[in-house]
Amino acid sequence: MTTPLTLRRQMVDSQLRARGIANPRVLDAMLRVPRHEFVPEPYRAESYDDHPLPIGDNQTISQPYVVAVMLEALDVTLNDAVLEIGTGSGYVTALLAELAAQVFSVERHLALAGNARQVLAALGYTNVRVFSGDGTLGLSAVAPFNAILVSAAAPRVPPALLSQLREGGRMVIPIGSSDSQQLHFVRMCNGQPVISLREPVRFVPLISDRG
Ligand code: SAH
Repeated sequence: MTTPLTLRRQMVDSQLRARGIANPRVLDAMLRVPRHEFVPEPYRAESYDDHPLPIGDNQTISQPYVVAVMLEALDVTLNDAVLEIGTGSGYVTALLAELAAQVFSVERHLALAGNARQVLAALGYTNVRVFSGDGTLGLSAVAPFNAILVSAAAPRVPPALLSQLREGGRMVIPIGSSDSQQLHFVRMCNGQPVISLREPVRFVPLISDRG
């Protein structure tokens, strides 16, 4: 029988290393976190395959490679406070919890937020808090953040998120329309966001309660 760890080793080698992901902390974290625990039962056998999977409420757990690209760009350290928008299954939250000091994650679907909280607690993550609400507003009560990861696509970078990024902080966010998006990497330099464009991607939309 192929164990989950064997499947993760194959995922890391063939989907990540082979495509240029080199950051050892990111590769280690992706080797450790049991992705299958975040995938609903009917799709569990496909947990380590090279594509996104449904997690309910028309949402998806992102493809491993896309997650790795985002994490590598963010270059999170063990001193960092990180904000994640779009908890979804909680898989990326767990990876961030391995890489950062503190993770604050916001999910607008109550059921998904509740499920992610349960899975993360069962796996023993204590440096994570999952909030239910509109992530386009960020979390002003705990801001500023060293890094912000947005797992849903927006037409532009939400201003509240920019204002909650610390000097020298990094953000990754998919920007574009519903069917064509590009990962944007933002770094806050001397109070100004410096933006560079990365991989084309496809995420579910970031839905703002304010339209
Ligand atoms: N990283 C997650 C991806 C989840 S898909 C994973 O791998 O499982 C994107 C998530 O963003 C969905 O769960 C969706 O409900 C959530 N979302 C969309 N708009 C949001 C908003 N304004 N605030 C918070 N979460 C939002």
